[in-house]
Amino acid sequence: MNVAVYLPDLAKTRWWCETLSALLPGWTIRSLVEIEDRDAVAYAVVWRPRTGDLARFPNLKAIVSVGAGIDHVLADAELPKDVPIIRTVGPDLTQRMREYVALHVLRHHRDMPRQLQAQAERDWHAIVVPVAPNRKVGVMGLGNLGAEAARTLAGLGFATRGWSRNPKSVEGVETFSGEAGFAPFLDGLEILVNLLPLTGETAGILDARLLGQLAPGACVINCARGPHLVDEDLLAALESGQIKQATLDVFHVEPLPADHVFWTHPAITITPHIASQIDAATGGRLIAANLELFEAGEPVPDLADAGRGY
Ligand code: NDP
Repeated sequence: MNVAVYLPDLAKTRWWCETLSALLPGWTIRSLVEIEDRDAVAYAVVWRPRTGDLARFPNLKAIVSVGAGIDHVLADAELPKDVPIIRTVGPDLTQRMREYVALHVLRHHRDMPRQLQAQAERDWHAIVVPVAPNRKVGVMGLGNLGAEAARTLAGLGFATRGWSRNPKSVEGVETFSGEAGFAPFLDGLEILVNLLPLTGETAGILDARLLGQLAPGACVINCARGPHLVDEDLLAALESGQIKQATLDVFHVEPLPADHVFWTHPAITITPHIASQIDAATGGRLIAANLELFEAGEPVPDLADAGRGY
């Protein structure tokens, strides 16, 4: 079976080729750009493929996204129609995201930025915050990552809400769904975490309207995709004080350009899309297992729904 691999980073592409070749003996796994016999390629394993990359293979049976999101695949205007897309998700990815969300929610909850500022000023300034059950936090998106993140926050004692498209039940979490549930979900939230997939419906969702519905002085954590956020609306909300702090892991353009205003903004914490990077070794095993299942005609649990966008 022939597999084409493409990641924007050549060294990473090589690594994935070697890892998958070791896990799938008998399969031929090559960098997409080196493949000559395009007709023989049955699978493509990709991260941010370039426009037209996948259309070069007329006999593609499935596309594997090296990550949980499929927006980077669907962004290809020449993407072959009706080729199934397999996401790569697993316990490592979920665990890393739980850690990231817990870290940054707790950081905002305990007002660490202000505490660190006090330290810099040699100011013995005891900041006393409400206990977690009196802190309203909300997670947008209750899928693989969002549901676990919400469960984790509820486990820490936060008054936790979650929002999804369809009604969901998550232990310890007050859940809301759809458009009707949006305003009551947001109402008075003090810390908001975004874990939605990027789709036509969710692009730009972190805008002035949404930010204005949070509690005054709320904090926002975006660890889903950059285009969820309207950058100027966040800057205006920080300026007015409606938003006190933001933690951003994802950006419209990545790497974030060196001259971007976010880098030096005193109320913005930046991380370079590391909230939950796929663990290389575990990710390889997940992808190999999914390819084997698909090839054997068995159900693949991580199939995305391209029509839905996630
Ligand atoms: P899932 O597909 O498992 O879950 C998506 C959730 O979002 C579901 O609960 C879904 O609702 C909800 N949703 C989708 N569209 C809407 C909508 N229009 N309105 C309300 N809710 C909606 O995704 P994952 O949890 O696996 O991943 C989420 C995203 O996190 C990824 O798409 C990716 O962009 C991002 N990510 C970021 C990483 C990082 O390192 N920063 C790492 C990995 C992923 P329903 O349950 O009703 O379908």
